[in-house]
Amino acid sequence: MQRPRLSVVVPCYNEERCLDTLHARVSAAARDAVGEDYEIVFINDGSRDGSWPVMQRLAAADPHLVAINLSRNHGHQLALTAGLDLCAGEEILIIDADLQDPPELLTDMRRTMREQEADVVYAVRRKRAGETIFKKLTAALFYRVLDRVTDTPIPLDTGDFRLMSRRSLDALLSLPEQARFIRGMVAWIGFRQVPFAYDRAERHAGETKYPLAKMIRFALDAVTGFSTAPLRFASHFGLVLTGLSLLLVLYIAFAWVTGSTVQGWTSTMLVVVVLGAVQMFVLGMIGEYLGRLYVESKRRPLYLVQDVAGPVKGQSTLGY
Ligand code: UDP
Ligand code: MG
Repeated sequence: MQRPRLSVVVPCYNEERCLDTLHARVSAAARDAVGEDYEIVFINDGSRDGSWPVMQRLAAADPHLVAINLSRNHGHQLALTAGLDLCAGEEILIIDADLQDPPELLTDMRRTMREQEADVVYAVRRKRAGETIFKKLTAALFYRVLDRVTDTPIPLDTGDFRLMSRRSLDALLSLPEQARFIRGMVAWIGFRQVPFAYDRAERHAGETKYPLAKMIRFALDAVTGFSTAPLRFASHFGLVLTGLSLLLVLYIAFAWVTGSTVQGWTSTMLVVVVLGAVQMFVLGMIGEYLGRLYVESKRRPLYLVQDVAGPVKGQSTLGY
């Protein structure tokens, strides 16, 4: 296989207004870094706007560009997986389509990779411009909670913007799971990984494709994918409740013996309601894992490709 020096992988969902500028800036940055020996891989993740026609037009004019049209919206992490699976570069840059992560940092990231002999250079957000207080707060909280509950240390405030070596990407692609939290999976593979601080810019155009519901799903995938702490919590909680209920049994026996069993509607209701709620919550937590187990057990391909425009160089192992 003829591998280009560099692949730039970009998942896109409803980004028609970003694509032209994105293509121009990424091409310039790539050319700066490696001359002509690069490819750009755009993944259209079932956009409902004109993203795909724009990609086709760009791909027809630029032999460096490969555009992949997924059969529907698979979600950010799977769209990214498709791009990583189908790219062929020796070095791989992962970047968002909205230009919040400046492609011009590529040269510096490559220098860091060379100087520190790293396999992964991950970009850490110093500042986040143009994002709501809510987004910043939930993001900050998310990374900190995740850090506490996961067994794999996952770097704080780090998105998917990163530069990877081919051998670390191949390691990543050897992980077959369906529920993919890629920044955690990259942390899991190991190799030599170094941070690279940057200021996150505002979106070039359009709005965030991560509404609250998607953020919650993403967070659940992260926690369940990298930690069994909630399950442990469930069993510990059960143990404590069992202890408490033993005390209650003693009290009930005592009250029965002394014949002081009166009314007690309030306390009965309290126990019923609280225990009911706790049980539902714990069951739900177990259900999150069970549901994921079910999805994993089906072993479906991670993404389905409908069309391609341009020369696909990589060999797919995870998709169809
Ligand atoms: N994205 C995608 N599929 C989706 C949602 C998002 O491919 O279902 C892409 C999106 O086009 C962008 C990247 O994932 O390139 C990150 O999304 P966004 O910028 O909306 O997230 P935010 O920066 O607000 O967290
Ligand atoms: Mg963004």
